[in-house]
Amino acid sequence: MKCPFCSSDNTRVIDSRPADDNSSIRRRRLCDACKKRFTTYEKVETIPLIVIKKDNNREQFDRSKIEAGILRACHKRPISVNAINKLVDDIETEIFNMEEKEIPSTVIGEIVMDKLKDLEAVAYVRFASVYREFKDINTFMDELKKILDK
Ligand SMILES: [Zn+2]
Repeated sequence: MKCPFCSSDNTRVIDSRPADDNSSIRRRRLCDACKKRFTTYEKVETIPLIVIKKDNNREQFDRSKIEAGILRACHKRPISVNAINKLVDDIETEIFNMEEKEIPSTVIGEIVMDKLKDLEAVAYVRFASVYREFKDINTFMDELKKILDK
């Protein structure tokens, strides 16, 4: 997206949210060249997000899949539904802010793990063990150690 002030291509999204009419997304952007901020509106239907799976198949981004994975990881942990909802919101915002049309599922997994790590250690390790399909116990212990060292 070109900056309307200086025409630089070097702009990035600093905030995305649904516009009042709910059929478009309002984005605040920052130009890295001249540091000015501007707002754009984009129609929701023009930005479907496609997830590239490990087998290279494509599917439409589905928030409920992320939610289900996190719920499973947080099973019987002291984490409120509100905290989980907020986590999924944060993850979704981060994904959409990347402004990619296609995102590898591995990138989404890393984002989820990053956020979970800050929320709850046990849930994080559970999610990571499924997501990264730990090849051996050493990899798993490395992950655990990283958490315990913090
Ligand atoms: Zn500019």
